[in-house]
Order: sequence, then structure tokens, then C-alpha cells
Amino acid sequence: MKNLFDLKLNDLEDYFLNNNEKKFKALQVFEWLYIHREFNIDNFSNLKMELREKLKHDFTTDMIKIKKEEVGEDVKKYLFLLLDGNFIEAVLMHHDYGYSLCISSEVGCNMGCKFCESGRLKKVRNLEVYEMVEQILLIEQKENLRIDRVVIMGIGEPFDNYDNVIDFIKIINNPKGLAIGARHITVSTCGLVPKILEFADLKLQVNLAISLHAPNDNIRSKIMPINKVYNISQVMKALKVYLEKTNRRVTIEYVMINMVNDSDECAYELANLLKGMNVYVNLIPYNETNNLEFKKSKRVNDFKNILLKCGINTTIRREFGGSISGACGQLRSKEV
Ligand code: SAH
Repeated sequence: MKNLFDLKLNDLEDYFLNNNEKKFKALQVFEWLYIHREFNIDNFSNLKMELREKLKHDFTTDMIKIKKEEVGEDVKKYLFLLLDGNFIEAVLMHHDYGYSLCISSEVGCNMGCKFCESGRLKKVRNLEVYEMVEQILLIEQKENLRIDRVVIMGIGEPFDNYDNVIDFIKIINNPKGLAIGARHITVSTCGLVPKILEFADLKLQVNLAISLHAPNDNIRSKIMPINKVYNISQVMKALKVYLEKTNRRVTIEYVMINMVNDSDECAYELANLLKGMNVYVNLIPYNETNNLEFKKSKRVNDFKNILLKCGINTTIRREFGGSISGACGQLRSKEV
């Protein structure tokens, strides 16, 4: 059975129309869920009793559960228990502009990036739309706050769960619902080329981030197995198409790992690769994990300065959540 939080506003409209009901009822349901935060269908008081019964017959409003919370400085990590017993994590960050939430899109991950903890558990399954929506709803309810920005950068490769992630984005972006502005939503991919191209055609105002992490195939293939499927030149071609179609600036993520991808040569090579493109580089200080092979680079600032000198816009990602294993690449699909 579908969960009510799986449905976009137009899915709900179709449902009511197919059941010979007025379309506006969809908006009423949407407002109960996302404006009034009433999750019990019995309390949808502007719908007649029979209609509430029918909704209850056709949909669940089952919720995932917050199982554990860990608090760090300006950051809080949540372990969610899913209805089938699987676990995922989400991370809430407090910035001076407000709150951002990093959500998971899959249980486990199949991309196998060598430096990332999230892929240690191979992908078990996609997250359903409701499981992504509820990460936001439950944290907002629990903390009594509104989330300003959502980044789809937790466990999983969002473009490997493309359809659900797009529906999720449409639900949270809907001005009649959670109304999180498209420019306040970021989706990060390791470079699944066909999906980058599909995403370009949607012409959403959502931010796209691409995990590049290396300036050449030799290094990238060593740390990101996906590079053997879609190499850097294919990713760059897709990026160019995306930039042409959307006119949106793209973030290039580059995790700084000691002696792997942090040399001056790498910086120059990266600058060369990105020259003239409407992108900026977000350098991610490496968060050490159980995999002792990789260490934090001490050259983040030097690397940044070379890129800047070459005319490439560059920022360094603020470090959040390291002390609670809530930082990039440290999230896990298991309870520990
Ligand atoms: N699957 C998506 C989202 C992953 S997480 C993607 O690949 O883009 C978001 C970012 O954190 C990615 O750029 C990812 O490569 C990076 N990351 C993974 N492990 C990390 C670690 N240990 N330290 C810092 N960043 C890491």
C-alpha cells in the first residue's frame, strides 16, 4: 500500500478525480500534511467521514522513527529506524542563515567510493519517497523548527534512486506544501551521466553538485569505481549539456585526501579541466573513517589558492559533525 507522503500534489489530484471527487480535496489533504502537520487521517475534519475512511483504506501514514540522536557543535545526527527494520541517518546543521538538513536517499550504497563509509553496506534498497519526506517532517516536529535548506548528500547515490528523488524534490518544493525553494535544495551525484542529462531536461532550479574528487581518470578510477563506467570526459560532456540547458552554476565537489589528489599538479590539472565553465569548486576536508588507508590532506588552503590563482571560484566546505561521525562520508546504515 502507498504511503500518503509518497504522493505529489498532482498525484493526489489524480486520485480524487479518479474517485469522482473534486480536485481541490487534494489540496486540503496536502495542507493537512504539510501546513497543519496533522498526520492522522481521522482528523482531516474538512473531508467527510466516508472520504476519510476511503483514504485510510487506500493509504497509510506510517512514519519512520527517530531511534537515536547525537549532538555536536551546531550539528545533530539522527538515526532513523525504517518500517522494515533498516536504518538510515540524517544530519541537521545550524548555520547563521538557518537550518540545513542532509538527508539519505538509499539504504546503503552501491557506488563503492573507496574513501566513503556509507558504501560499506552495499545498497539494500532505494528509499521510498515517504521515507525521504519524513526525515524532514520528523526532525522539524521534534526540534520545533523549520528547515531552510535540504541537501541530498546523506547515505546513497540519489541518481541511483532517480524517480523517487525527483518526486521527493517536487513534494518539498511545492509552494502549497513544505515550500522549500528549489535554490535551497541541492542534489549531489557521483556522476551518473544519463541521469545528469535527464535532470538537465527537467530544468528545475535545484542545485546540482558533482563529486569529481580527481582531475584525471587515473586517480579517479582508483578511488571511485563509477569512473570505470562514466569517466571524467563523459562527466564533463554531461556537465556542459547541463550548463547549457539550465544556465545554473554547478558545484564541483573535491574531497581533499592526503597524497591521493592534493598535489599542486592536481590543482593545476583541475583548473585546466574546469576553465571557463560556470562552476565552482567546493573543497571538502577529508573526514577520516575506519578505512585507515586515507588521511586528511593538510594542503587544502594551498590547493584552494592555486585554483583561485587560475581563476576558478573555490570554497572550502565547513566541517560539521566529525566528532559524532556525522560528517560527509561518515554516515552508516547500521546501528552502532
Ligand atoms: N552519492 C552522492 C552523495 C554522497 S555524500 C555523491 O557521491 O555525490 C556527499 C559528498 O561527501 C560526496 O562528494 C562524497 O564523495 C563526499 N565524501 C564521502 N566520503 C567522505 C569523507 N570521508 N570525507 C569527506 N567527504 C566525503
